[in-house]
Amino acid sequence: MAKVAFFSTQSYDRRFFENSSDTHEFEFFETRLNVKTLDLARGFDGVCVFVNDKINEEVLKGLSEIGVGLVALRCAGFNNVNLKAAEKYNIRIMRVPAYSPEAVAEHAMALIMTLARRTHKAYNRVREGNFSLERMIGFNIFKKTIGIIGTGKIGQAFCNIAFGFGARVIAYDKYPSDAMKEKGVEYMEFDDVLAQSDILSLHCPLMPETHHIINKQSLDKMKKGAMLINTSRGKLVDTASVIQALKDEHLGSLGIDVYEQEEKLFFRDLSDLVIRDDQIAQLMVFPNVLITAHQGFFTKESMEEITRTTIQNIDDFAAKKDSGNEVSCKLLKDC
Ligand code: NAD
Repeated sequence: MAKVAFFSTQSYDRRFFENSSDTHEFEFFETRLNVKTLDLARGFDGVCVFVNDKINEEVLKGLSEIGVGLVALRCAGFNNVNLKAAEKYNIRIMRVPAYSPEAVAEHAMALIMTLARRTHKAYNRVREGNFSLERMIGFNIFKKTIGIIGTGKIGQAFCNIAFGFGARVIAYDKYPSDAMKEKGVEYMEFDDVLAQSDILSLHCPLMPETHHIINKQSLDKMKKGAMLINTSRGKLVDTASVIQALKDEHLGSLGIDVYEQEEKLFFRDLSDLVIRDDQIAQLMVFPNVLITAHQGFFTKESMEEITRTTIQNIDDFAAKKDSGNEVSCKLLKDC
């Protein structure tokens, strides 16, 4: 049996997790886990966190001092965890590596479809009785070149969807997939993917080497009028450069499910407040920009899988068993 404190809990997390285990004891906190809130974890064996909880050295040291031995991530990405410090303080880090890659891949395609056919505009127009097609012209995805950065689980699911549309699929990955090559994905250098893509979709993890992988130089290398889609992590993209490329009409459109400064905004209802983040405020008014608030993962199927795997991770921790879902410096090439 393990006692686990859940942080960054939304009503839906509580709904899925509340009666999910007969063995373990859960308590739910809405607040993020950080140095100021970590005392809430006193008396617990583990904490369960999400994408915007910063599990840095200070937090890990604090957790070890109060006897917490597990950080269970309710997500796949672990860029928010200092793995070296986790090792130093002997805290196990477990994640949900693949709850539903299709959920995120389908969301990326939803962003593309919306921007390509302007359905976000059409929805509002028709509700206001405006049935005009002026400035509504879209473009076919059929026969377009879709570039994919990172062909892991989500990237591969996305390749399959793109093939279904009759697109040409090109990709850059440090470790190309033979299975995807067989399916027709053309691997090439990063700069060639930038230069040839009509639509560029990011599916690589955030690491020091991928931070701002989309910056002024890479945007300059993209085709004029291309579409950029980011459902991976906000910090892959230098927001200031993207805003400039949109203003210059070099970048044709932008669809993002993640945002560089999303910790201050996403997963909260700020509708009665003034948005103080000037960059997102600017992006929100561009007609060729579509923003969703990190909902790529958010399907019924994903939530069921996240719950199932997280309970399994807590079971393994409580039983002191090895887990295939553990992330540590030992298991990674780059740490
Ligand atoms: P994965 O580990 O299966 O695949 C990542 C791929 O990126 C691998 O093939 C890897 O070789 C490749 N890669 C690593 N470094 C690279 C580099 N420098 N350049 C190009 N490719 C590189 O991960 P996944 O499950 O496909 O998830 C990808 C990312 O999607 C996660 O890291 C996470 O940030 C994001 N994600 C977002 C949501 C959402 O709700 N929007 C949900 C889940 C995951």
